[in-house]
Amino acid sequence: MIRIEDLDTVIDTERGEIRPVEGVTLEIAAGETFALVGESGCGKSVTALSLMRLLPDSGRVSGGRVVLDGQDLLQLPETAMRDVRGSRIGIIFQEPATSLNPVMTVGRQIIEVIERHTELRGAAALARAIEWLERVGIPEPKRRVNDYPFQMSGGQKQRVMIAIALAAEPDLLIADEPTTALDVTIQAQILDLLQELQATHKMALLLITHDLAIVAKMAHRVALMYAGQVVEVATAQDFFARPLHPYAANLFAALPASGKRGQRLASIPGSVPSLLGNFTGCRFADRCADAMAQCRTATPELVSAAADHAVRCHLYEGRDATPRASRAVASAAATSASAREHEVVLAVRDYRVWFPIRKGLFQRTVGHVKAVDGVSFDVRAGRTLALVGESGSGKTTVAKAVLQLLRGVAEIGGSAQLHGAELADLHGAELRAARAGAQIVFQDPFASLNPRMRVQEILEEGVASLCPDIAAPERSKRVAQLLDKVGMHRDALTRYPHEFSGGQRQRLAIARALAVEPRLIVADEPTSALDVSVQAQILNLLLELQEELGVAYLFITHNFGVVEYLAHDIAVMKDGRIVEAGAAGQLLGEPQHAYTRTLLKAVPRLAG
Ligand code: SF4
Repeated sequence: MIRIEDLDTVIDTERGEIRPVEGVTLEIAAGETFALVGESGCGKSVTALSLMRLLPDSGRVSGGRVVLDGQDLLQLPETAMRDVRGSRIGIIFQEPATSLNPVMTVGRQIIEVIERHTELRGAAALARAIEWLERVGIPEPKRRVNDYPFQMSGGQKQRVMIAIALAAEPDLLIADEPTTALDVTIQAQILDLLQELQATHKMALLLITHDLAIVAKMAHRVALMYAGQVVEVATAQDFFARPLHPYAANLFAALPASGKRGQRLASIPGSVPSLLGNFTGCRFADRCADAMAQCRTATPELVSAAADHAVRCHLYEGRDATPRASRAVASAAATSASAREHEVVLAVRDYRVWFPIRKGLFQRTVGHVKAVDGVSFDVRAGRTLALVGESGSGKTTVAKAVLQLLRGVAEIGGSAQLHGAELADLHGAELRAARAGAQIVFQDPFASLNPRMRVQEILEEGVASLCPDIAAPERSKRVAQLLDKVGMHRDALTRYPHEFSGGQRQRLAIARALAVEPRLIVADEPTSALDVSVQAQILNLLLELQEELGVAYLFITHNFGVVEYLAHDIAVMKDGRIVEAGAAGQLLGEPQHAYTRTLLKAVPRLAG
């Protein structure tokens, strides 16, 4: 249906030209789901924006063709291209909230597309808009057609985006990380919906994602991108059964899963190279365990390694396509928590966090939002309790309240004891001392590190305020040792947070948490903003620290791969309550509660 030939894109920056897409060639057939996968910054989204001609002002397509029905879209005048967008090619983005117009009803936004691209007008267009809302599963579409975006939930907004994209019945839908911002059950519904609509409309789907499990569920064919180039193209079946490129094999090995419990995940050393300037040789060479001399001097071409399976790697030039086993990093060191007795570090009983709803001139309390309502759990030394559930279930709220971070904001009831001390009863120096025993690591390491302080100051600050007895020279020594512990070079001490990558910043956040030798670390989605290969490094680090120091983790996450890999115990939260709790193996193997089963069923998986 559409053919992208040798596409090159350039973006001008202050530091020079960046080439986020180089020599990309792809074909997508009618009715086919084609997945473009890879880690952040590899060029997936820029490829989509280039073929839609929606690049930012600083970007331009510098070579290649995008052929739709024999016509090169890159040569069309902008007015003709505007018709192609919408009528022939639709696009949906990750964040529906920012793509919808907040001051227009959802109905009006769908009608606009219908009137622009079809013959329908007035009442007929409205009727079609209502039909689309119904088709994408919005309840009571006749009433909801008059709603504004803010009146809809995140999942409903994404459904509206799909309705807008499909209202002109395009031949190709580009879905750029369409479910990344959504909970797992909503994600499953949206993916099912896309599959269903695709089957009825015989539409081609270009699915852009970093999530290999989603690719396994949805795609017919897959292209893997690395540093602006396609490095492997195959049928989905073949790609998952026999990934050929060393990068592909490493990505699979880096994924956490229940089968890898107690083992180190393979991690890919180094990071994606800068796309400034020209390359000599293979772009993956610095990170590849199979690299040969030739890899540094000669650029590999995309060669056919088997029927319908091409790969860009010297290992397969003129040879049979035997998949390479991942040799990312010695994934030896199998470990597991020792069988020692696990004392309770944090005991939470019948915990309630109610936010008052105030009204009127005197701000009288007229009701409560019961964010957490009667929750009990234990976190034990050397063990990990995963608190799982969808957004809004109360996971983060309970953790913050337990650590006394919501004092004065919410009405809190029940008991939370850290090493037997009731945290709510502590004040001043006593509370500070207790807080030193329980640290928190957030999802976004950048937001939690002060951008104006050097790493040395950031790490020392925590020690100075929570352990004032430690003298300055001892403090500096401890900070330097911490960097070793989280696998960072001591040069980092004199640098600022913005000088580090996301993964390095998360290491720094962990180092800061460890600085005061806590017995408990609350980790709130610590890897959800990271790429698979960086996530593997952070999970390995957390495991090592737990074995070495016996730290207890309260791990808040919605990622079941991570839960299956890391958690000893699991508590499932829904609407402020724990609906099921137990040992990880048992809860995952034989979930008792219907909600746990729904959650587990909604998780896309690589196999089965
Ligand atoms: Fe590794 Fe060489 Fe293949 Fe690149 S070409 S992936 S460096 S073996």
